[in-house]
Amino acid sequence: MYDVAIIGAGVNGCNVAHAFGEEKKSVILFDMDGIASGGSGAAGAFIAPKFSKSGELKELIHDAFVYSMDFYEKNFSSHLTKAPLLHIAQDENDSEILKSYKENSTLKLKIPSKKVLELLVPHAKSQENICLNGGVVNAKAVCEAMSKNAKLVKEKVESLVYDDGMWIINETYSAKVVVLATGAYETLIKEPYIQLRGIWGHRIDIKTTTQNPYSIHQFVSISPSKDGVLAIGATHNVHYHPQTTIEPYDINEGRAELLEKASRTLNLENIEIIRDYTGLRSGSFDYMPLIGSLVISKETLACGTLSFKTKKPNHDEYMTYPNLYMINGNGGYGFVLAPYLANLLSKHVLSGKKISERLTPARFFARWAKKL
Ligand SMILES: Cc1cc2nc3c(=O)[nH]c(=O)nc-3n(C[C@H](O)[C@H](O)[C@H](O)COP(=O)(O)OP(=O)(O)OC[C@H]3O[C@@H](n4cnc5c(N)ncnc54)[C@H](O)[C@@H]3O)c2cc1C
Repeated sequence: MYDVAIIGAGVNGCNVAHAFGEEKKSVILFDMDGIASGGSGAAGAFIAPKFSKSGELKELIHDAFVYSMDFYEKNFSSHLTKAPLLHIAQDENDSEILKSYKENSTLKLKIPSKKVLELLVPHAKSQENICLNGGVVNAKAVCEAMSKNAKLVKEKVESLVYDDGMWIINETYSAKVVVLATGAYETLIKEPYIQLRGIWGHRIDIKTTTQNPYSIHQFVSISPSKDGVLAIGATHNVHYHPQTTIEPYDINEGRAELLEKASRTLNLENIEIIRDYTGLRSGSFDYMPLIGSLVISKETLACGTLSFKTKKPNHDEYMTYPNLYMINGNGGYGFVLAPYLANLLSKHVLSGKKISERLTPARFFARWAKKL
């Protein structure tokens, strides 16, 4: 029997494997297609904060950005390319946001070099910008490194049964604790209040004679990686879904969109597209991630003593699946959020440290139950 079984070997699952491995727990990791085969394998994996005026998502991503830059550098430095990050406003409204961000930021801001500003097209040059230290990780390699001490099983998990104090997986494996890290795929435990949307994305690696040492973000991100190529990404396509759209995805249309958006920022010369990556990001309906226990809606609703109409429901009263947790809904910030969230989750499971109610799946149960 394993201490922890993780279902899904994307950046969330691999970070959870690493966090429990650090605590000397035995970990078994399931993925139907292998490590970083879902959204994580498609990611540009830029490590950047969220440039907005205010809000809890901005604050969360700020904390996660500071944490994850340090985490990747300390533990997986060979998979991290540190590069100055230049974020350029798209329009006047964005300029105001950046100005306000700069005034209030606690991050160390930099002055972009003349060399990088010379690369920009005139419109991008005239826009407000912000420059700080950021990075890019090699998505697949870092996921492999994080999960190297876990037992990897390349299998689709189809059955999950709790019996006699342990979880039985696919009628073969057993574990005390299960963590669902299944991204935008069909959820294994079907609870009506858990709804995630998959947002399709496409990014490319290109070779170009233009030398760009910065991670530049405007309409798309344009970043150097260790092997001398530039990563350009990503599109946000809400109309295409690999499981429901009949028409196949048009890769040329995606490439054209990426190159057109990149050309609004930089003059890239002698471009050769060398790789395409596509995948789904998984987002929640309030944009905040979901980590923690899953409420059993049927049993909680059946417990007639609970009042769901109150303004501040007590989440501790809800019934949850025993030793079953989820980590999901990182949207476009999976590589920034996952190290931070996996640390919160492992501390919660191992020592009972409370997770903020703004992050737990119970918040969606509370809203759903109120409407009934
Ligand atoms: C094009 C693109 C660019 C992106 N760029 C960035 C970026 O620059 N920076 C950043 O921080 N984030 C980026 N993201 C977002 C980031 O990739 C996601 O937030 C992150 O990958 C989500 O990770 P995950 O582990 O939750 O899901 P996934 O990586 O999708 O992993 C879920 C895994 O679960 C497996 N699985 C599902 N169900 C089962 C089952 N029943 N049995 C076994 N296995 C199962 C799947 O095979 C899959 O491998 C980008 C995403 C895309 C698509």
